[in-house]
Amino acid sequence: KNLKKHFPIKKGIFGKTVGHVKAVDDISFYVNEGETLGIVGESGCGKSTTGRVLMRLLEPTEGEIEFDGKNLIDLSVEEMRKTRRDIQMVFQDPYASLNPRHTIGKILEEPLIVHGILNSKERKKKVEEFLVIVGLHPFHAKRYPHQFSGGQRQRIGIARALMTNPKLIIADEPVSALDVSIQAQVLNLMQDLQEEFNLTYIFIAHDLGVVRHISDRVGVMYLGKLVEISDSESLYEKPLHPYTQALLSAVPVPDPDYAKEQIIIEGDIPNPANPPSGCTFHTRCPFKMDICTVDSPKLVEHTTGHSVACHLYDESQVGNDIKQLEGS
Ligand code: SF4
Ligand code: MG
Repeated sequence: KNLKKHFPIKKGIFGKTVGHVKAVDDISFYVNEGETLGIVGESGCGKSTTGRVLMRLLEPTEGEIEFDGKNLIDLSVEEMRKTRRDIQMVFQDPYASLNPRHTIGKILEEPLIVHGILNSKERKKKVEEFLVIVGLHPFHAKRYPHQFSGGQRQRIGIARALMTNPKLIIADEPVSALDVSIQAQVLNLMQDLQEEFNLTYIFIAHDLGVVRHISDRVGVMYLGKLVEISDSESLYEKPLHPYTQALLSAVPVPDPDYAKEQIIIEGDIPNPANPPSGCTFHTRCPFKMDICTVDSPKLVEHTTGHSVACHLYDESQVGNDIKQLEGS
């Protein structure tokens, strides 16, 4: 709720704060138990920072994080450490997140040791069991990360996240570094595991195509703000925000007969340290109106379960359209 993460920009030898990068700027959303919420946006939009803040790997500047009836912000370091058993993360680059000098067995056992789960013999058994669950073999426990392919390493990363029987998994671009042919396998595995272990996912990705089939709901971020959030069906069928429309038009369609017009977003992502006034998307938006440069649109529910932050959908704006129609 109202989550913010602002990083100070420091200058000079005394490290004087001269401004802030508003990496996450007042976003609110929820994820229901057992569902997958996709969070999508270009790099630098704040989606990874959001994931880290939710786990308090980064302290939020402001806001509340309610999980299982507790506000995580109120927890002590020790209580938060215990809670992390229930919230695990899967990272984009499985190679960078697996210690190259440790065997897979040791890597998978570590979260169990940290949280004081099971005795040594039971832990080893659980490691072997979970290697099989993610599609590997018990003998892989003796091997090292470099002996595996990218896809296998991501399976190991997923197994590690599962070791503590978490409720929520925050997956930060878990398939972005993988070949397209391998991506589908890992996504299918994650979906099977979700069902088997009743997991809740927050699935971060940079393109809407990846999260399409896995997400129950999808949120789109731009420059630290959530600009649209909706159940998947409604979002993919009727994207409301011009940015979502552009992102979606870039997703290839499997049916070649259905040619769609690609919307090209002009210009680069603005500097997050100095974001545009009003709607931060106005510098690239093909539908920009006068109000957009001065007033920041709020995220409001447009239809049930589908919210958007864009002046095109303001009540007053809708009213104007109707007035124009009536006048003509
Ligand atoms: Fe475009 Fe204005 Fe909507 Fe922003 S508020 S997305 S600039 S129409
Ligand atoms: Mg990222």
